Amino acid sequence: MNALSIAALSPLPHTHADGRKNLVGLSREELEAEMLGIGLEKFRARQLWHWIYHRGVTDFAVMSTLAKPVRETLAERYAVLRPTVVRDLKSADGTRKWLLRMPDGQEVESVHIPEEDRGTLCVSSQVGCTLTCRFCHTGTQRLVRNLTAAEIVAQVMLARDALGEWPAPPDGRMLSNVVMMGMGEPLYNYENVAKALKIVMDGDGISISKRRITLSTSGVVPMMKRCGEELNVNLAVSLHAVTDELRSIIMPINRKYPLKQLIDACRNYPGVNNARRITFEYVMLKGINDSPADARALVNLLKGIPAKINLIPFNPWPGAPYERSTDKAIQVFGDIVNNAGYASPVRTPRGEDIMAACGQLKSDSLRLTAAQRAEIDRVIAEKDAELAG
Ligand code: SAH
Ligand code: SF4
Repeated sequence: MNALSIAALSPLPHTHADGRKNLVGLSREELEAEMLGIGLEKFRARQLWHWIYHRGVTDFAVMSTLAKPVRETLAERYAVLRPTVVRDLKSADGTRKWLLRMPDGQEVESVHIPEEDRGTLCVSSQVGCTLTCRFCHTGTQRLVRNLTAAEIVAQVMLARDALGEWPAPPDGRMLSNVVMMGMGEPLYNYENVAKALKIVMDGDGISISKRRITLSTSGVVPMMKRCGEELNVNLAVSLHAVTDELRSIIMPINRKYPLKQLIDACRNYPGVNNARRITFEYVMLKGINDSPADARALVNLLKGIPAKINLIPFNPWPGAPYERSTDKAIQVFGDIVNNAGYASPVRTPRGEDIMAACGQLKSDSLRLTAAQRAEIDRVIAEKDAELAG
């Protein structure tokens, strides 16, 4: 493997240009080990955690509960980093989209969607996505790399900076919910996503509870159980089709993990019950998956699973091979699902004018040579084999 393709695949250590180590993204245990490693007491980690994740402070000099010499020692060795905001767009409907640049130059997008009673941040887990779903703009971008835990947490921290919510109020937060529905497949970067979400959920920090976090997957079956057991966040599944034949065309991952396996994994998702349903996302593609027969088959397929069905009108992007279903078709489809006893809200497209709606995210990633692409394909195949085995 040549040097560039390794760099392209593995998350870079998140270090400041001057060599100071970034503290963002370390678990509590790792932060304690850092403190002990430089001869400070363990409880310093607790104090730091509070400043970094509850107060949102990035400058050690402001951390007034730490003695001055301690602050100086910390500032010499460590940094509390944020990604660089390259672009900050605001939609007519209040949706905001940030394009963030990481230290190695790779870029991702995060989107904040304000609603009357809450505000949701849509967080990315990878630069691009390898899964090439045919309706998704992100899928047209080659995966360049997974995001580190630091880069995932930092998206939430940056939104808090921008919304002025340090410390966050207990009620009425503008950033109250997190959805792992940005760029990338979170279950293909599980370790980093899990580490980041544990930090986001920590009660003495960012403090967004697991009930307010939803992870969306295209159906990486072997990782679903672990995600439920370890994180116990709400699960959303990108279903989008009710037959293997169609799903394999629009979502190639279905060839690896077909519907039966996916539905079984949903049925067995830890913690699912009527009070905590799985959300099935269903993108409405004109003339492709939006007929009344499809709606009836959907109801059949989900029988016995505590489920809610989120109908997503297709969001177009340049060169997209599909069109949005008509309002009428969406309504008829929704009624059938609803009459069968499933909530079937239609997701209002938000931030379309700034290309921030579901499936529209994309950043310019490194152009790779054919050899590098082949190398990436090889590593992905290896990873898939690992997951399968
Ligand atoms: N990779 C994960 C997380 C991304 S979530 C997943 O696929 O679930 C983004 C959601 O938007 C997914 O449900 C995805 O299927 C949906 N989506 C993708 N492209 C879309 C488009 N053009 N219009 C509407 N929804 C889209
Ligand atoms: Fe990847 Fe999800 Fe887009 Fe499919 S829909 S290409 S899995 S981001």
